[in-house]
Amino acid sequence: MSASKRRIVIYPGSFDPVTNGHLDIVRRASVLFDHVVVAVSDNSLKHPLFSLLERRDMLVLALKPEIKSGKVSVDSFSGLLVRYAVRKGAVAVIRGLRAVSDFEYEFQMALMNRRQECRVETVFLMPDERYTYLSSSLLKDILRMGGDVDGFIPPVLIPKLRRKISKTPLP
Ligand code: ADP
Repeated sequence: MSASKRRIVIYPGSFDPVTNGHLDIVRRASVLFDHVVVAVSDNSLKHPLFSLLERRDMLVLALKPEIKSGKVSVDSFSGLLVRYAVRKGAVAVIRGLRAVSDFEYEFQMALMNRRQECRVETVFLMPDERYTYLSSSLLKDILRMGGDVDGFIPPVLIPKLRRKISKTPLP
């Protein structure tokens, strides 16, 4: 397939840090599209725990086989998501829906994005049930309190996360 015919999709997010819920969505998206660009948003208003570079590096570690196969790449962006999507030649943006509580905000964002750029669709995917109650912020809370995070993040990332959390005082 020629490069211009590849159906590229963007999966944007804070990924602070990436969880198995995010990875589940990436894998589902890579079945539907030719290439998934996991795009870390550089939005300092969200005050992420991990720097942009750290968040990218963790994604690269977690998605090593998918990146090697050419199905997935990791990037970062700032500014309007839909403008970035057009620059990347993407046909759609993926968002994950865990529960009804995600819906209202995601619906609003999807329609606003369509208003900004009608060429980019938003596609919602649901993760495996195991991840429907998992979020990056809950994961950080559990780590801070020394809880068990097995099955929620790739094991290769656990020491990195524990180190960072122990060095970062609570806000
Ligand atoms: P954002 O700040 O853009 O919401 P997140 O990293 O929190 O960034 O989430 C990125 C996307 O991944 C969002 O669409 C979110 O709904 C989805 N997501 C987050 N956690 C999960 C999960 N456990 N299962 C499925 N999707 C998830």
